[in-house]
Amino acid sequence: MAASRVEVTVVTPDMLAWQGPAQEALERLSDARGIQELLHLSHELWCGTDCDRSTACTFLHYPRDPAAAVHPSTTRSRYNKQTAHLYTVMGAEGYVGPVAQCHRINVWPLLEKVVERWDTVGGRLGGTPEHYSDWTKKRDASAAVTVSCACRDTIQWMACWCGERYGADPLGLHYIAFATILDDICIPPLDLVSGRFRMYGRSVRDLVRAMDSAGWGRDAVHALLSLIRQSIVQYAEKMDFRSGDEHIGLHDELKNSPDMWDGVIFRGNTGNAYGTAIMVARNSRTGPVSFPWLMDGAVCDCLSMDLCKSALGIYSVDNHQPTSHGHRSEKRKASYRSIYLDLIDDLVFTGAPEPLVHFGRSGFLFVQIQDRYQERRYGRRFPLAPPMARELRRLFGEVPTDEWLDEVFHSREADEARPFVWSHHRAG
Ligand SMILES: [Zn+2]
Repeated sequence: MAASRVEVTVVTPDMLAWQGPAQEALERLSDARGIQELLHLSHELWCGTDCDRSTACTFLHYPRDPAAAVHPSTTRSRYNKQTAHLYTVMGAEGYVGPVAQCHRINVWPLLEKVVERWDTVGGRLGGTPEHYSDWTKKRDASAAVTVSCACRDTIQWMACWCGERYGADPLGLHYIAFATILDDICIPPLDLVSGRFRMYGRSVRDLVRAMDSAGWGRDAVHALLSLIRQSIVQYAEKMDFRSGDEHIGLHDELKNSPDMWDGVIFRGNTGNAYGTAIMVARNSRTGPVSFPWLMDGAVCDCLSMDLCKSALGIYSVDNHQPTSHGHRSEKRKASYRSIYLDLIDDLVFTGAPEPLVHFGRSGFLFVQIQDRYQERRYGRRFPLAPPMARELRRLFGEVPTDEWLDEVFHSREADEARPFVWSHHRAG
């Protein structure tokens, strides 16, 4: 992997319990015999053994302190608290903040319940029909289509975030491709950890090994744990929405929360926005950044995407419509969107580096120009243009899938008949 060696200063803060290399962390995680154990092991590497799994636990929550303004390092967004009321998409009220940035719901017991259920079912049946089913709603004919398009989406995102440096760090691209495919295919988390699941011949193990040898240091550990967390919440989210008595209600709880903060942070975790923010910071060579800057950029990235998807009507085909919920809908929508306006101002006024501020705003850009969202609208795939096919070969490789994945991949039954679900960061 000598060609991909890029000397980049570590960007993540020194806050994790695990201080060793990422490969060793992954070794520990691969001891897990079930998803619940995987959740506990990865949490232990993040928080240590004495975390009480309350809403103060930053593995599943983001209890945010008020930001102190220092010196802006970039220009304030023109779409801001003072201009939002001019646009219908914001609702009649405009900005309704500041919105509470604390948790009312502890995700721990809810998530435990879902993964415990599926560990039991998985243990009994050795798998469920959802495993390796297609969640793109684009009726993909093969896994190769889904995988190559997820990698196309990854390249397009990276260009929206980092401009012409999109190809500067193949490891960052490979990482985001894993984060994307977790949304598009229902992948059992243990298959990700064991290396059974591969894209273009690479497993998460290969990726982590390459990060370690390229000198990523703790950035690789943050990224790995964020990816494992995403795989678990993605899985729980997909499996929570089986109809009838198998439904546990993780999303119902989040939807019923009196504050939007709970749903916003869970949503960020299903999209692995934190891991993505690390890739953007590394690719942009920001140097060390704070946890709030990474998280705020990540949350804003999700929220600006939602705003743009709402404006363009893309939500009408999504499984999860984060703000549509009965009579409180309008009020919640305004509150949800005001969180974006609070955080994007805080990013600017606390002096966050421009690439992270831009990352936070980028949903306004990528939803409009990326094939992923256009395809979502039309419910079908667009052909890969020759320049993109060349980029895929250059940055990912020749063959997107192996025979094993080709065989287990299948379309999802009752694709359209499912009840409403909460959020897909990447889906659209
Ligand atoms: Zn914790």
